[in-house]
Amino acid sequence: MTWVNLEGRAFWMLFVAAFLAVAVWESYQARRELTTPAERRWSRHGLLFAISSIAQAFLFRVSPVALAMAVEASSFGLLNRPWIPFALRCLIAVLVLDLSHYVTHRAFHSISWLWRVHEVHHSDPDYDVSTAARFHPLEVILTQGCNLGLVMLLAPPAVAVFIAEMMGVVVNIIVHANVSLPGRADRFIRAVFVTPNMHRIHHSVELAEQSANFGQAFCWWDRLFGTYLHDAAAGEQALSTGIRCRQGEDTLSLRHLLGAPFQAQRR
Ligand SMILES: [Zn+2]
Repeated sequence: MTWVNLEGRAFWMLFVAAFLAVAVWESYQARRELTTPAERRWSRHGLLFAISSIAQAFLFRVSPVALAMAVEASSFGLLNRPWIPFALRCLIAVLVLDLSHYVTHRAFHSISWLWRVHEVHHSDPDYDVSTAARFHPLEVILTQGCNLGLVMLLAPPAVAVFIAEMMGVVVNIIVHANVSLPGRADRFIRAVFVTPNMHRIHHSVELAEQSANFGQAFCWWDRLFGTYLHDAAAGEQALSTGIRCRQGEDTLSLRHLLGAPFQAQRR
């Protein structure tokens, strides 16, 4: 069995397992009570996720792992050089692929028309595991396009792309958990990975805090590029998430979830 055969099955198995595990965790240790019933949130975010997944599959007939396998033996590419040790090529690929998510995430916040698209993810006034599925189809397509472009440029080992993809799925679900890690555990994990406490600061209603903690899996990029914020000004328990100018709106309506990028910009 090749990595590409495993990819689809592993993606869905990890997605479902991580989603259910975090949902159970939240049911025992929710950081904050949701303002909207979980059933409504899950059904709307699930529908948005389905639309985004179908749009992505329709547009890109190739997955990142399949593309990596296709370009592995090509004459171009930066990481398909046999003189670079295989383990080093894998390590560089996993790091660079995660760094690319940091870069694209910053671009989604810095460029106004990209922010309109990414705003759909941030306009969630609540914050729970289903927020991990709340991405506009355009954001999913643009992110996957960048990902595929980078795989073509790097021509990395397929196994490294597989690891990066699976890590991305699991971490995206965990960091959106509506749970609060104890300070010590949070600090320990934050030495390497982004935690729910760290990513939640990025979802703060405060604009300055939205401009921090962009990392997807590894927290090093924020520390390296000066966008790391350890604590929210309001404190972990009082931190409010969402977008101030969208408070009180029906941010779960399909009109908003699909149409927000085409409406007047708000910040
Ligand atoms: Zn963001």
